[in-house]
Amino acid sequence: MNKIPHILFLFSDTGGGHRAAAVAIQEALQAEFPGLVDWEMVDFFKDYSPPPLNRAGPDYSKLVQFPDFWELIFEASNMRATARLWQSLAWPLVKSGMDRLIEEHPCDLIISVHPIINTPILRAFGENHPPYLTVVTDMISTHEYWYNKDSDIIIVPTEEAFERGVKLGIDPNKMHVVGLPIKEGYRNPVPKKEARKRLGLPLDIPLVLMVSGGEGMGPMEETVAAIDKAKVPTGLVIITGNNTALKERLEARQYKYPATVIGFTTDMPTYMQACDVIITKAGPGTISEAFVAGLPIILYSKIPGQENGNVDYVVKHHAGVWEPDPKKMVVILTEWISKPEEMRRFAEASRSLGRADSSRIIARTAMGMLGMYDPGSIAYYDKRESKQRSLHQG
Ligand code: UDP
Repeated sequence: MNKIPHILFLFSDTGGGHRAAAVAIQEALQAEFPGLVDWEMVDFFKDYSPPPLNRAGPDYSKLVQFPDFWELIFEASNMRATARLWQSLAWPLVKSGMDRLIEEHPCDLIISVHPIINTPILRAFGENHPPYLTVVTDMISTHEYWYNKDSDIIIVPTEEAFERGVKLGIDPNKMHVVGLPIKEGYRNPVPKKEARKRLGLPLDIPLVLMVSGGEGMGPMEETVAAIDKAKVPTGLVIITGNNTALKERLEARQYKYPATVIGFTTDMPTYMQACDVIITKAGPGTISEAFVAGLPIILYSKIPGQENGNVDYVVKHHAGVWEPDPKKMVVILTEWISKPEEMRRFAEASRSLGRADSSRIIARTAMGMLGMYDPGSIAYYDKRESKQRSLHQG
């Protein structure tokens, strides 16, 4: 029997979004092309980088707790000259790891869902690299490291991320606007009542979903305390992700209204479908999922640097509001709960930004690169929008 093509996903657990994106693409491959390809995931920081870079995953959660310092690191590496300088300085340290990664993981296609791996791995390959697909998992404030001219196709989530690529000299024909990869579970939503029954959540009160990325970052406790103190008439569903210490502290609290605290869940689509509003850190993955689920969004924290633009995007499109002050945030939440028509307007705006087919389009792109799907038939959003523009003009 012939061997089926093998895809290598390059990612790292710096936050939960990169892994979530890779898993969403794998679900789409499995749904649309079952048995035609296989794949593996490699955490390039953990397994192929020298100390201290091999601790980037756990250290990232700690670093972003110092927002000013993190923003300095982000911006200092995000200008043309400095981006190259950092990569040149790091190259002698990372080269042998990159060579080992290439040797140990032969593949027919690479899908990168992380900005930092692109330049070193493509440099290590030299002229002959397998087809290389970059899937940008930041929404607006996309770091320069996402855009490498040697990548064959770069999937971007928004027009803003497309334009940034053009400014950095990427051939526009290599880029496509698609959206962030979304799990299969968002494609066929279950009715709210059914979702609540499945999850054992209250059926008869508004429910607020609180999430703070895969790692439960940000001032979640203060925010929960403010909502509870203000006696907002709503149930709370609090998802702490991998932050088990936070989960234990929140479980130990007494709440005035029904509250459910859970740790990392693989069933985020059902939780989103069960709730009426989401309060979240401005993570691009969670925001894109909330769009598809049609949830009005309250953003209460952000990682400076890569998440700045997400806040502007949500606010500009009236899908939600930005309010980092817990007391003021509670005032907004109370108003939304008492005036459902206002909340509905935000919900509709949010839904209009959702792209539930993003992972399917990315899966088709990957199969096209392997010669197993007709690339000309893929309905990218940039194609759809330019078609609409030309119809409008013509
Ligand atoms: N997530 C999840 N289960 C959890 C918490 C989070 O599947 O318990 C997912 C969430 O749905 C999203 C991702 O983790 O897809 C978080 O990505 P985001 O970009 O929002 O934030 P990050 O964790 O990367 O800062």
